[in-house]
Amino acid sequence: MSLASFFQILPPKLPYSCKSVPIETLLMPEKITLLWYKKNPSDVAPKVGDRVKTGQDLAEDGKGPFVSTATGRIEEISDFQGPEGHGYVSVVISQNKRDSFDLALTPIEDFSEVDPVDLRAAVNRAGFTALSSISNDPSTWPSVNTLIVSALDLDPHSVVNQQIFRDHVDLVEDSIDLLARTTGASSCVIAVPDNLSDIAGSISTGIANIVIVPPIYPKGLPDILAKEYGKGFLIKRNENQVVTGNTLVISIEHAIAMLGCLKTGKPLTDKTITFSAGKGGEMKNFRVRIGMPVAEILKKADVEPPERGKLILNGLMNGYACFSGDQPITESTDSIHVQAPSEVFYFQDNACINCGKCNAICPVDLEVNFLGRFSQYGMFDKCRNLGAENCIECGLCAYVCPAHRPLVQLISHAKHVIRTEALEDVSMEEALAKIEMEDFHPTIKLFETKQEEKNTTK
Ligand code: SF4
Ligand code: SF4
Repeated sequence: MSLASFFQILPPKLPYSCKSVPIETLLMPEKITLLWYKKNPSDVAPKVGDRVKTGQDLAEDGKGPFVSTATGRIEEISDFQGPEGHGYVSVVISQNKRDSFDLALTPIEDFSEVDPVDLRAAVNRAGFTALSSISNDPSTWPSVNTLIVSALDLDPHSVVNQQIFRDHVDLVEDSIDLLARTTGASSCVIAVPDNLSDIAGSISTGIANIVIVPPIYPKGLPDILAKEYGKGFLIKRNENQVVTGNTLVISIEHAIAMLGCLKTGKPLTDKTITFSAGKGGEMKNFRVRIGMPVAEILKKADVEPPERGKLILNGLMNGYACFSGDQPITESTDSIHVQAPSEVFYFQDNACINCGKCNAICPVDLEVNFLGRFSQYGMFDKCRNLGAENCIECGLCAYVCPAHRPLVQLISHAKHVIRTEALEDVSMEEALAKIEMEDFHPTIKLFETKQEEKNTTK
């Protein structure tokens, strides 16, 4: 933290880690667990006991794709509650030692000969769900004005994208060509952190511009990149399921993986994560099979599961605590941090002291103090009027709040209620009741219980 921020003249600056951390590949575990967002066990086509191949689409007709990252036998299909509060269907597969690949995907030698709609279908079928969440139908993809391929990481404690950029800079140009054709983007940008600008100099950019980004959090978050370098908004679904925005941001890891998958006709099977344990602990980059349980990674890293500490997935700023070692790695897991008990930060149900620090640091200019209060007291229509939906959940407000209020959880909860109201076409009260039944945020539950206890003792 800088001297200026210590005296509260400027907000604190959080630099991204710039370390070079070689990537080590971990052996496949005996079992993997695949998660499928907001689906039911009946949406999975094979049954328990069936054998499946790597790359096989496990979805019932018209529901997928839901791509297997392993070859083996299905042991269990069940509902799964994610630590971030979302519901999934989970499929546990006991793996063979070797992959036997489904032949639905075929290698594409020359992308320039292939229709963009077919390229999108191939990307979806290879298992890149981050893109298929925009549209499962390749013929109805939104029009992309700007494509940003980012070599920045999402959290200050992750060094995945930076390392992949270092290791595979020679593949960046081909990846951009593929993505430009696939998405139809009229302008392409390669976002590179300042510390890697010398490596970026070796790229023959062709159709893309290189932008050098200060390695300060939250500059690497997709919404911020879209705003600053796409001159627009990230393409996403709003609360009414309408796709809005004009800029697509893809990590360099996914861009290079897409190139590899389409060229070889193989599915996406692996994910690279940054692993660290304890404050200031050594960072390691592991390449693991998607679906590998966190507990297996701890075992391979020779780290004991924390008894009173926490497992944090996807970073200390905008990640979440995971309560079970059974939690599997997904396509969007970037990091695991094992927190020692002394490092664990506890939110408080303290009242806001109106210091204004949260408002000053919010990168999307929200009135965070009011949003926190309105959400706390169930005034979700007021949260909507203040633009709660625009919160990018960067965590900076909670980081600076001297009252230690769980601001991100409160705002995220309000967003969830607002979305449910719009999606299900129900009242706010009905939306709240539905969320409480299904996947209410654990921190908010705790917060409300403490409030009730306080009210009772008054
Ligand atoms: S998490 Fe806080 S600081 Fe970040 S965008 Fe949301 S309200 Fe603003
Ligand atoms: S930082 Fe915390 S205490 Fe200060 S205004 Fe925001 S919510 Fe209130």
